[in-house]
Amino acid sequence: MPEAFDCLIIGGGPAGLTAAIYLARFHLSVTVADDGNSRARQIPCTHNHAGFPEGIAGADLLDRMREQGRKYGARLLEGHVDELVTGPLGFVSRGREVTGPARTVLLATGVTNRRPDVPEPLHAEALRTGRLRYCPVCDGYEVTDHDVAVIGCGARAVTEAIFLRSYTDRVTLILDQDDELTEQDADRINKVGIRLARGRPSEFTLGANQIHFAVGQRQMAFDTVYPSLGSEIHSELAASLGAAMTDEGCIKVDAHQRTNVPGLYAAGDVVVGLDQISHAMGEAGVAATAIRNDLAAVRPILR
Ligand SMILES: Cc1cc2nc3c(=O)[nH]c(=O)nc-3n(C[C@H](O)[C@H](O)[C@H](O)COP(=O)(O)OP(=O)(O)OC[C@H]3O[C@@H](n4cnc5c(N)ncnc54)[C@H](O)[C@@H]3O)c2cc1C
Repeated sequence: MPEAFDCLIIGGGPAGLTAAIYLARFHLSVTVADDGNSRARQIPCTHNHAGFPEGIAGADLLDRMREQGRKYGARLLEGHVDELVTGPLGFVSRGREVTGPARTVLLATGVTNRRPDVPEPLHAEALRTGRLRYCPVCDGYEVTDHDVAVIGCGARAVTEAIFLRSYTDRVTLILDQDDELTEQDADRINKVGIRLARGRPSEFTLGANQIHFAVGQRQMAFDTVYPSLGSEIHSELAASLGAAMTDEGCIKVDAHQRTNVPGLYAAGDVVVGLDQISHAMGEAGVAATAIRNDLAAVRPILR
């Protein structure tokens, strides 16, 4: 086995790449393994990420961060990590290639939004043109006074519809036929004038400016649709090492982004908290600094 390196980061989204930039600038050896499905890559143009008055496309932001990481010596590997094991010299990951041993690991593996039943090309075009959006916190501003629908299930969809009501008075909540709506939630949406429809949207098409679909026999059209169907949380590797999780499957960490497994840290959307680029970057800075200090506590980092 080669000499152990300081940190293996799994996940090359805003969290993973921010941590790589920090760690490389701490003069630590860092490798990032990423299989290229960052949620940020789907962002046509973010307007709420600070420092970009004209906005920036998610893919461009990631390219800048990769360039910055490489500039300071971070190694970027492409490929999916299937397995992560601990050994006497540290952590070893297996995927397209074996990587390790690493003295520490940062999991920045993110989540994936569950999608409505929309063919991929149409989904991509709807996302590109803002007729399909996944994050009201990110881009509710862009649908100010527009005709908006939330399609989803349960309390999460109700909360999202009420959040969007602060941007427009034309909000429709579309719940599955058998989806339970508590009296309290029914009262909440009535109070703020949110329309309710029941049924599973299907037969999606894109018109000149709107997105169209059928709900049962009804044809509906909106300027923008927000799916609120939950997410797949990519915390399998943490679970395989016995890390503590929330009921939803997010990784539990302390104030320094440490998990309960020695040497294992986590940051970004895969950790409980606000799913935002700024938050992922903030957690990554905290994690990288804790990794640096924890390594220095074992073996002084001297130039
Ligand atoms: C359509 C859309 C618009 C958005 N708009 C905004 C916005 O305007 N502003 C904002 O702040 N946020 C926005 N977000 C949210 C933002 O993209 C996320 O909060 C952010 O990307 C989280 O960063 P992350 O690094 O935690 O996870 P991600 O960016 O999802 O990165 C995780 C990475 O880990 C990789 N990975 C996972 N498992 C493995 C494995 N086993 N092996 C190798 N690689 C793995 C994935 O491929 C991915 O590249 C938006 C999201 C979407 C979907």
